[in-house]
Amino acid sequence: MRVVFVGTSDAFGAGGRRQSAIFVEARSGGLLLDCAPTTLTGLAALGIERAAIDAIAISHFHGDHFAGLPLFLLAAVHEDQRREALWIAGPPGVEARVRGVAEAMGFGLGSRTLPFPLHFVELDTDRELTVGPARIAAFATYHQPEAQPHGLRVAADRRLLAYTGDTGWFEELPTRLAGADLAITDCTFFEPGFEYHLDYTTLAARAGRFSCGRLLLTHLGPAMAERRGRLELETADDGLTLEL
Ligand SMILES: [Zn+2]
Ligand SMILES: [Zn+2]
Repeated sequence: MRVVFVGTSDAFGAGGRRQSAIFVEARSGGLLLDCAPTTLTGLAALGIERAAIDAIAISHFHGDHFAGLPLFLLAAVHEDQRREALWIAGPPGVEARVRGVAEAMGFGLGSRTLPFPLHFVELDTDRELTVGPARIAAFATYHQPEAQPHGLRVAADRRLLAYTGDTGWFEELPTRLAGADLAITDCTFFEPGFEYHLDYTTLAARAGRFSCGRLLLTHLGPAMAERRGRLELETADDGLTLEL
């Protein structure tokens, strides 16, 4: 499994980087975790073709994690002449949310028939579901409840990747990431700042509680962007590529 960090900034592009998106390339196909407004730019910059993406899984309904979807769909129709199926997975209500944001951005899907099969999958916190090339189980996180925040446990190629999306600290977090070959967590702040996002100080103090192969911090705000690569815990960066 190859993992490429397409975007690793907070919602506001701290450090001139792109917002959250992670590309996972498995033998069974390609998967994108979150699709931000800057994600298409990132894919183009990194040489990742949209056609290589069979499924997109959304962690929650904040624009910096899913507002790139209308552009991805529009490009699939008009630029890519896509014919292969696309799966879009997310918290319950994902289809209505995606249609709503597409409409608001002026790219409404309406009742038009797309030239490729589009499947929406509502992720479940109780069981693992097949989403295109991967098996995904969701877990509840601690973030603004109206955004239906979920983390994702993604299994493919006999590897397990766990991704929090956005979250503040909650006691079950180490359990939710346990056993993952790669765990990727929100770390927006350096010092505790806002209850719905994690910070380096909190994570470093609890580092001994995580039992995963490798822990990477992402969704980095300004203070974290400045310090990235110089901290005890490993930080992600745009374009970082890992083989699992
Ligand atoms: Zn975010
Ligand atoms: Zn959020």
